[in-house]
Amino acid sequence: MRVDIVSIFPEYFTPLDLSLIGKAQANGTLRLAVHDLRTWTHDVHRTVDDTPYGGGPGMVMRPEPWGAAFDSLAPDELTPDGVTLPRLLVPAPTGVPFDQALAQELAGESHLLFACGRYEGIDQRVLDHAATRMRVTEVSLGDYVLFGGEVAVLVILEAVTRLLPGVLGNAGSLDEESHAHGLLEGPVYTKPPSWRGLDVPEVLRSGDHGRIARWRRDEALLRTAGRRPDLLAALAPESLDRLDRAA
Ligand code: SAM
Repeated sequence: MRVDIVSIFPEYFTPLDLSLIGKAQANGTLRLAVHDLRTWTHDVHRTVDDTPYGGGPGMVMRPEPWGAAFDSLAPDELTPDGVTLPRLLVPAPTGVPFDQALAQELAGESHLLFACGRYEGIDQRVLDHAATRMRVTEVSLGDYVLFGGEVAVLVILEAVTRLLPGVLGNAGSLDEESHAHGLLEGPVYTKPPSWRGLDVPEVLRSGDHGRIARWRRDEALLRTAGRRPDLLAALAPESLDRLDRAA
């Protein structure tokens, strides 16, 4: 997967050289490039913002540097199926909520372009113009406001990259973890078997794989019911088996 990120703070992305994302870059699974938006400014102050039309507090990002950045990083490109590339992702508190289903969808893309807003956001015409030639998705991390889009991009990229084939050592973990099938994962334990008077549940030490699988499923259902009843309510009835209903 190719990923381009445009930001006025390229330094924010140095952690992407670490850990499994760093490895994905080293082995070519992820081809990541971070670009300074100010590269596409032409004045001595390398200006990227200005006062808002209509008045009000704060500054708005001017359209010209963004337009030039997209012209350079998003040459009109079509997949064999006629889909435009790259897919432009713009973090915004006004966007669609980011979730595992969207992460899964993005993991199927071959080229993502991220535009990190700052101040009061990016002039609307940048997004309107981009939408005439690429797929544009505004994405929200949640119902709160951050200083800028950089941290949102780090989050989105972590969630997407770990879904790419070969990035996780054990791909089986993807199938069992929270949100993979609409449930939260239940509690997990490691050694020692007893710690500060607290014991690992007997079933997990039994070696009985059938019982362990059933226990894990029950714990996932219980935890989801207690913490996120909305997720449980959204499960398709056919995804529950007879024993789930009993639990
Ligand atoms: N004036 C904007 C509003 O009220 O919707 C908020 C701008 S915010 C201070 C600056 C930038 O931070 C946004 O352009 C966006 O890139 C990013 N941002 C802030 N909150 C976010 C969120 N919840 N999800 C994703 N990005 C966010």
